[in-house]
Amino acid sequence: MSQLEKVDTFVIGSGPGGYVAAVRSAQLGMKTAIVERSQIGGVCTHVGCIPSKALIAEAHRHDLLRQLNKADTAGSFEIAQAFKQKVVDKQAGGVGYLLKTAGVTVVQGEASFVDEHTAAIHLAGVEQTISFQHAILATGSRPIELPALPFGGRILSSTEALSLSQIPASMVIIGGGYIGIELGQMYAKFGAKVTILEGGGQVLPGFESELVAPVIRQLKADGITIINGAKATKAQQDEDHVTLYYEKDQVHQSITAEYVLVTVGRKPNTDGGLGLERIGLQVTGRGLIETDEQCRTNIPHIFAIGDITAGPALAHKASYEAKVAAEAIAGQAAVVDYRAIPLVVFSEPELASVGLSETEAKAQGIPVVTGKSSFSINGRALALQATEGFVKIIADSSSGFVIGAQIAGVEASTLISELALAIELGATVEDLALTIHPHPTLGEVIMEAAENTVKKMNMKK
Ligand code: FAD
Repeated sequence: MSQLEKVDTFVIGSGPGGYVAAVRSAQLGMKTAIVERSQIGGVCTHVGCIPSKALIAEAHRHDLLRQLNKADTAGSFEIAQAFKQKVVDKQAGGVGYLLKTAGVTVVQGEASFVDEHTAAIHLAGVEQTISFQHAILATGSRPIELPALPFGGRILSSTEALSLSQIPASMVIIGGGYIGIELGQMYAKFGAKVTILEGGGQVLPGFESELVAPVIRQLKADGITIINGAKATKAQQDEDHVTLYYEKDQVHQSITAEYVLVTVGRKPNTDGGLGLERIGLQVTGRGLIETDEQCRTNIPHIFAIGDITAGPALAHKASYEAKVAAEAIAGQAAVVDYRAIPLVVFSEPELASVGLSETEAKAQGIPVVTGKSSFSINGRALALQATEGFVKIIADSSSGFVIGAQIAGVEASTLISELALAIELGATVEDLALTIHPHPTLGEVIMEAAENTVKKMNMKK
């Protein structure tokens, strides 16, 4: 057993939580090491955000060429996979570069706690130890496996679904959350016959139904079948196909496809050999680590961030917490404020929301006024032939403060940042309405939604 240097901050896991925490910690002058058991960049870079968005972009290009009768179906998926890998490699290289230039020591291996200030790092039968003043846990999450449908063969998790070498003729997706919708629409645009089984009454259950409606319309236009209220019970595989059995309205039914993709959620990586129980670090029944407003666990010098903590399992939430944790370790007064975490679905049309929905605001007893504007007569949207969708702003009618916003439409993922900033800065709907937006741009729809909100507020007075 060899002993690595002693560090101020030891980060476990190099996803968007871990690597951002390590870089920030080093920038703040602390001696920092990060350990990764798999690939630098974590789930997001290798089997999450980045590869999925690269394939989605390729699926849109393919769809456009198909509409122009120029698509080469067989070759285009190979090209798409090669493109995806290039994007992933570039991004992973970028993460490695950031760590190196910040002066972070990068260690390959699997970490487990020996005691509150020591961790063992295992790699290929070799064990090293490292001692630390503070640790930041950022071990992320993995796909949930249904006991009746274990991963393997033709039953895929999102990880395998991002690396198929050919477009499947057909695919059944269990779970209509954002990962199932994004991957399902991607494969449908490449020509697969996709069926989505959703256990609840609506796909994308976290979003209000008026927002999801344009997406459902497009999913249907892409040839996707959606079956709500369906519960998968078991699957039977043969060499070429898998038959999935499910129950809907107490009727047993089955569907046969080339693959079944299970996207029913993710499980925090707080079990296994990490040794949390050895140091008395508390974990909830769902495997999440409870933290305070500085991302501190029940052991004051150990912090936890990202998918292993409560809240949306999103890369930017992990990176945000990463900075707070590193700054807290450096003695700064940083605290988390979750009021403005944007949620995005990279579907066509895209969905994005930030802050409170109208329902949530009303449930909290806030006096609410809302205003909407649609992309249908926006010049830029017309030029892009993407006029589906709208912007909705939710404001506190007593003060005019923007407290939430929702967008369905082209580039919703980019547009939502203006509304996140409005919440963050404590802007009012008048501020948004009075801000000069360039013409012709999609952002004008935000300005118009704000103007409509102001009009409704004035009518109420
Ligand atoms: P992770 O990225 O999961 O990284 C944790 C790392 O810790 C892993 O690399 C793991 O190997 C390592 N590790 C675990 N245990 C140990 C140990 N004991 N020792 C050493 N290393 C260890 N989010 C978005 O915001 N936008 C998106 O568009 C988006 N798309 C997604 C698409 C898909 C298909 C999936 C699956 C996820 C997507 N996500 C997206 C979610 C996003 O990937 C996660 O929220 C994010 O990666 C969480 O970051 P993290 O740092 O908490 O952990």
